[in-house]
Amino acid sequence: MDMQTSFLDRLFDAGLLIDTGVEGLYGRSGQFEDVITAFERLIDRFGGADGAEAMRFPPGMNRAFFEKSGYMKSFPQLAGTVHSFCGNELDHMSLLQCMEVGEEDWTKDQKATDIVLTPAACYPLYPTVARRGRIPAKGALYDLQSYCFRHEPSQDPARQQLFRMREYVCMGTETHVTEFRQTWMDRGVQMMKEVGLEVTIDVANDPFFGRAGKMLANNQRDQNLKFELLIPITSVARPTACMSFNYHQDAFGSKWGLTMEDGNVAHTACVGFGLERIALALFHTHGLDVADWPENVRKTLWG
Ligand code: ATP
Ligand code: ZN
Ligand code: MG
Repeated sequence: MDMQTSFLDRLFDAGLLIDTGVEGLYGRSGQFEDVITAFERLIDRFGGADGAEAMRFPPGMNRAFFEKSGYMKSFPQLAGTVHSFCGNELDHMSLLQCMEVGEEDWTKDQKATDIVLTPAACYPLYPTVARRGRIPAKGALYDLQSYCFRHEPSQDPARQQLFRMREYVCMGTETHVTEFRQTWMDRGVQMMKEVGLEVTIDVANDPFFGRAGKMLANNQRDQNLKFELLIPITSVARPTACMSFNYHQDAFGSKWGLTMEDGNVAHTACVGFGLERIALALFHTHGLDVADWPENVRKTLWG
């Protein structure tokens, strides 16, 4: 048994994660949720004075917006769509027959609905802001949290298929959004220090699909568009990204028609916290029993 399997099994045994029979799809105990709630309060403490507008979207988004986002060009392997039965009574009979026999795939006649599973918390935001009109000269700041879906089944408990992402998104001038990103990199390091987690920050890239994707990834790296805050969870040699800091230049501004008061295309950046990963890093570092965590860490989280 490798290390990853054993950490997952220990989490199951402790009841912190609940096995559903699907890799990367877990229930969470009250204790696990309590850690996430406490950590989100810490995020609020660091970001609360910035005046971000809070919005909460459900874990499914408008399929038309998903299509326009270009997600299928970059990450077709990760996407999840919502399909439903849309037939009549006769179709229903053959559906049940098909399920009974079990030979054929009963889902093959399901039809795509208008909903796609949200791949990142910020995806529903851009079209929402674009619809409101121009962005004030001082810029705009949003506070988001959503369950996100990514089809990446794994035995690594830190790689889940349905997980929560807390995000701050900034829209404004290049200077404005790059300063926002730097501020959160500094805050990220400080926050993790306050809860006793060892971190490193490194330049990163997204897993763009295919051969053309390799070029996109290299370009993203060369231009320092993505940084990650890494914490050891299942491996010290390969620590896990628990936060990411993304500068989109004016790509999303152009795509969605995000325009500043003066008519310039807005630059955007987003900062994402992987909430399950941060909880797992805490359990990995301080132990599976919260009562045994260092006093200062408990104090930071629960006062
Ligand atoms: P990785 O390189 O580990 O796949 P990522 O670059 O895909 O991460 P982002 O797309 O930047 O991650 O997502 C923002 C944050 O969401 C990440 O920093 C991470 O903390 C978290 N996250 C991403 N994928 C997962 C996952 N499969 N399970 C749990 N958390 C995740
Ligand atoms: Zn984002
Ligand atoms: Mg990924």
